Amino acid sequence: MSKAKHIVIVGAGPGGLCAGMLLSRRGFKVTLFEKNAEVGGRNRPIRMDGFVFDTGPTFLLMKYILDEMFQLCGKRSEDYLEFFKLDPMYRLLFSDRTVDVYSDHDKMRAELQKSFPEGSAGFDRYIKKEGQRFRKLYPCIKRDYTSLKSFFSWDLIMALPYLALNHSVFSNLGKYFKEEKMRLVFSFQSKYLGMSPWECPALFTMLAYLEHEYGIYHVKGGLNKIAAAMARVITEQGGTIHTNSPVESLVIEHKAVKGVRLQDGTVIEADDVIVNADFAYAMTHLVKPDVLRQHNHEKVKKLEFSCSTFMLYLGLDKHYAIPHHTIVFADDYNANIGNIFRKKTLTKDFSFYVQNASATDASVAPDGKSALYVLVPMPNNESGIDWKNTCADMREQVLAALEKRLGLVDIREQIVCEKVITPQTWATEENVFLGATFSLSHKFSQLLYWRPHNQFQELDRCYLVGGGTHPGSGLPTIYESARISANLICRKHGVGHIKPYNAAPI
Ligand SMILES: Cc1cc2nc3c(=O)[nH]c(=O)nc-3n(C[C@H](O)[C@H](O)[C@H](O)COP(=O)(O)OP(=O)(O)OC[C@H]3O[C@@H](n4cnc5c(N)ncnc54)[C@H](O)[C@@H]3O)c2cc1C
Repeated sequence: MSKAKHIVIVGAGPGGLCAGMLLSRRGFKVTLFEKNAEVGGRNRPIRMDGFVFDTGPTFLLMKYILDEMFQLCGKRSEDYLEFFKLDPMYRLLFSDRTVDVYSDHDKMRAELQKSFPEGSAGFDRYIKKEGQRFRKLYPCIKRDYTSLKSFFSWDLIMALPYLALNHSVFSNLGKYFKEEKMRLVFSFQSKYLGMSPWECPALFTMLAYLEHEYGIYHVKGGLNKIAAAMARVITEQGGTIHTNSPVESLVIEHKAVKGVRLQDGTVIEADDVIVNADFAYAMTHLVKPDVLRQHNHEKVKKLEFSCSTFMLYLGLDKHYAIPHHTIVFADDYNANIGNIFRKKTLTKDFSFYVQNASATDASVAPDGKSALYVLVPMPNNESGIDWKNTCADMREQVLAALEKRLGLVDIREQIVCEKVITPQTWATEENVFLGATFSLSHKFSQLLYWRPHNQFQELDRCYLVGGGTHPGSGLPTIYESARISANLICRKHGVGHIKPYNAAPI
């Protein structure tokens, strides 16, 4: 490039940071505008009285993709971050049994043998077949779907039989496992996408395979350190990050984005703009109602969205010896899922997830204390629930569940500090449309070509990264969205492509 093109990025969440890192390495002038005081978005830290919590992501899957992003910048992730591979990966707590889930296959077979009458017979078939599915589908996930031409690829044709179009994850698992609880061990991961295993497309049956094959990682200090490390790389490569700088609107002329207008009125011109802010929020807040056809305010509201979450972060005056990750299943899991996704109501019998990072990482809490993160899947704000009036009752129910299901009987006396995030605050404070924390639903008609395109189809000079574009929500796929958009921008300006890393495991 004779003169560096200017790329402005709206939001410094994982998607924006990763795109900024890749493009600043390729010689672009990169400027990020982030509304919060700190980078990371839903991946940023919450700090209270010496405790550190991750706001959102706590499971790092497919670590090799994160490594590739650093390698593409000529860096090593290990020079910026300290990783812990977890084994067991997590504990599953059903009303009648406890299952520890290992990435070591021998240990996993032994655990299934111990916990289920049908034993581990289906496990090897599951790993073999879902491995095949992953190897066929992953090349499709890494592609861009900006045009029908790019959609109809040989990769996709080869992958068609692996889409299992008329099945859900739960029904597809019937090929390997008989018992309902056995299937839940390999299907609750649909919740990572904010979906029900009974509705999540069968192609996502491979999610649990990814855990068993590549493991789950924690990062010292929390996954928020990844965001901080990416921000460091951007500045090392000459990029600029402005925090406390909310963008008020995209500057659009003749269906092309010319820059952004900040809330203080300043207009920043750009050759291209990347939108990392939540897709549906951005279309309904940064673009006027009548500018777009396919994604105008009314049409965006009609899309289908993921569930939300109620979060409780507890700084505790005691070291609790519970595992790093525990998933607690409602007695009637199916009914709980129905309440979240179909009826959109609250229920007293709920599933929840608890992270006790202090079990592995002493840096997240003062000596002898614990930093507990509790996530309860909830209906998104289409429910109409008034969270201001419901919050205190929900907090009580969560504490009671921690006492009853995890045996933390003295937890109330140990609380030093706490923070709550409700579906309502996800929307009002974090700019997450409908508080749908995992973005647009991943139903088949909102995937691949049918998800908002990385090179946004309605506006020139506009690209998308993050959970609301292809390939979807979750850190590894968000990093892939950044790679796809960065490659498209490189191609447009004739800058050498960011080549996929040769040593990737597939
Ligand atoms: C509770 C929870 C748990 C999760 N757990 C996991 C997990 O374990 N593993 C996993 O892989 N994924 C997980 N995810 C999903 C996903 O990885 C994260 O949500 C991720 O942070 C999404 O990244 P993003 O870049 O799409 O958006 P965000 O993180 O939301 O980043 C968008 C950024 O844009 C900024 N922004 C918004 N509006 C403006 C504006 N007007 N001007 C300037 N800036 C603006 C925001 O402040 C934010 O920094 C979880 C998500 C949640 C919410």
